Amino acid sequence: MAIEDDVLVIGGGVAAVASALAARETGARVRLIAHKQSTLRQASGLIDVLGYHPEGADDESRTAPISDPFGALDAVPEGHPYERVGEEAVRGGLDLFDDAVGDAYAGGHTDRNALVPTHGGTVKPTARYPAGAAAGLASDERDAFLVGFDAVTGFDADVAADHLRAAGVPFDVRGATLRFPGDLRDDAKLTRYAHLLDQNDEIEVDGQSRPAREALAERVKAHLGGHERVGFPAILGDAEPAGVRADLADSLGADVFEVPMGPPSLPGMRLSDMLFEALEDAGVHVETGNPVVDVEADGDRVDRVIAEHTATRVPYRAEQYVLATGGLVGKGIRSDRERVYEPIFDLPIPQPEDRYDWFEEGAFDDHPFARFGVPVDRETRPLDADDEPAYENLRAAGAVVGGYDFAAEKSGSGVSLATGYAAGTGAGERA
Ligand SMILES: Cc1cc2nc3c(=O)[nH]c(=O)nc-3n(C[C@H](O)[C@H](O)[C@H](O)COP(=O)(O)OP(=O)(O)OC[C@H]3O[C@@H](n4cnc5c(N)ncnc54)[C@H](O)[C@@H]3O)c2cc1C
Repeated sequence: MAIEDDVLVIGGGVAAVASALAARETGARVRLIAHKQSTLRQASGLIDVLGYHPEGADDESRTAPISDPFGALDAVPEGHPYERVGEEAVRGGLDLFDDAVGDAYAGGHTDRNALVPTHGGTVKPTARYPAGAAAGLASDERDAFLVGFDAVTGFDADVAADHLRAAGVPFDVRGATLRFPGDLRDDAKLTRYAHLLDQNDEIEVDGQSRPAREALAERVKAHLGGHERVGFPAILGDAEPAGVRADLADSLGADVFEVPMGPPSLPGMRLSDMLFEALEDAGVHVETGNPVVDVEADGDRVDRVIAEHTATRVPYRAEQYVLATGGLVGKGIRSDRERVYEPIFDLPIPQPEDRYDWFEEGAFDDHPFARFGVPVDRETRPLDADDEPAYENLRAAGAVVGGYDFAAEKSGSGVSLATGYAAGTGAGERA
C-alpha cells in the first residue's frame, strides 16, 4: 500500500524546505523525501535574492550591484522564475526563511542588499546574512583586520585584504596569516576547529594549558593594532557560534565577524541544520537517504511516485507534488553526451540541439547551460512540449526550474525560497 499525504515534496535543499513549510502553513499534511544532502552544505550560507541584473539588461547595469532587489524585480525577463511567481512570493519566501532561522540571520530589517565581504575579497550584494557576518559589512567604515590560518585553506587573509582595498571599500583593511594555537593536524577538517571552539577545550600553548578561545584571542591580539573589528574564516563554532564570537570579542576588545567561505561551508551546514529543525517544528514528515526514481500517472495527474529503498520500490501517494530536486549540481537535472534531462518525470528542458551550443567560449560569458531547467507556468507547474502544464498536480521549485543564471545574478537561494513559497502554497491550498 502507498504511503499517503496531502503534499509530497521531493528534494532536501532550500527550495524543498520552503515548499514544505509553505504547504504546512495552509494546514496540509506534508512529507519531504530527500535523497542526499543539499548543495547548501557547499554554499556560503548567504541568501541572495538579486545581486546583479539578469540576462537582457544592458552591459553597464549588469556589472553594477543592485542595491534594491525588490525594485529590480520588474526588469527580469519573461520566463525568469521571479517573473513567474511575482514579488509577493519573493517576500513570502523570505518571511518563511526569517521565521525559520530567527536571530541567527540578519538583513530582514531592510529591503536593501547588504554588502558582505567574501573569502576571495570580493564584496557580495545579498539579502540575508548570518548574524556572525554582520560586523564585517563593507558599508561599515570601521577599519578591519582579517585573520587567516596557515592550515585553513580557502582563505588567504592578506590577499582578501588586498582585494577589498582594490575594490575601494571605505575603510582600511589589513590581513595576517597566523598559526592556529595548539597542535591541530595541518589537514584537520573545518568542523574540528569549530568543535574545539564550541567546547572551549584546553589546548597546549608554549607548555601551558589554556582554553581554546582564550589562546586564540591572545595570538590574534599581538597583531591587532588599533583595529576595531576582526574577521576570521567561518570556523568559529558549529553549535554555539554566537558564544564563541562573544568570548573572542571580549578578549580582543574588538568586534568579531566571520567571512563566508567556499565549499565545504560551515555557515551552509549550520543553515541546513536550522532549516531541517524548522521542518521538524512545523510537523513535516522528513525522510532522507532514498531517491525518488519513478512516477505513475493517471491522465494528467500524478498518481504516485516511487522511491528506491535498498532494492525495494516504495510507492508514495499524495494529492499534490512539488519537485525540488535541484539543478545540475543537485542532480535534479542530468546531462549526458546527447541531452540534458529531468530524470524523474522526464519533463522537457529547452536546450540547443548541438551540445557545443550549450557553452560560450569565455569562462564568464553567458552560458546557456547555466539557465537549463524546467520551464514553469505562473503557478510553478512544469510545462510540457506544448507549453501546457505537464501534470495538473505537480509543481516545481528551486534550481530544477530554468530561466535564470543564479551564479551570475546572485539569486540562488532567493529563487529557491520564492518558487518554494509559491509551489508549496499552491500545492497546500489545492490538496
Ligand atoms: C558552490 C555553491 C555556492 C553557492 N553560493 C550561494 C550563495 O552564496 N548564495 C545563494 O543564494 N546561493 C548560492 N548557491 C546556490 C544555492 O545554494 C542553490 O541555488 C539553491 O540552494 C538550490 O537549492 P535547491 O533546493 O533547488 O536544490 P539543492 O540544494 O541542489 O537540493 C536538491 C535536493 O534534492 C535532492 N534530490 C535530487 N534528486 C532527488 C531524487 N531523485 N529524489 C529525492 N531527492 C532528490 C538532493 O539530494 C538535494 O537534497 C550556491 C550553490 C553552489 C553549488
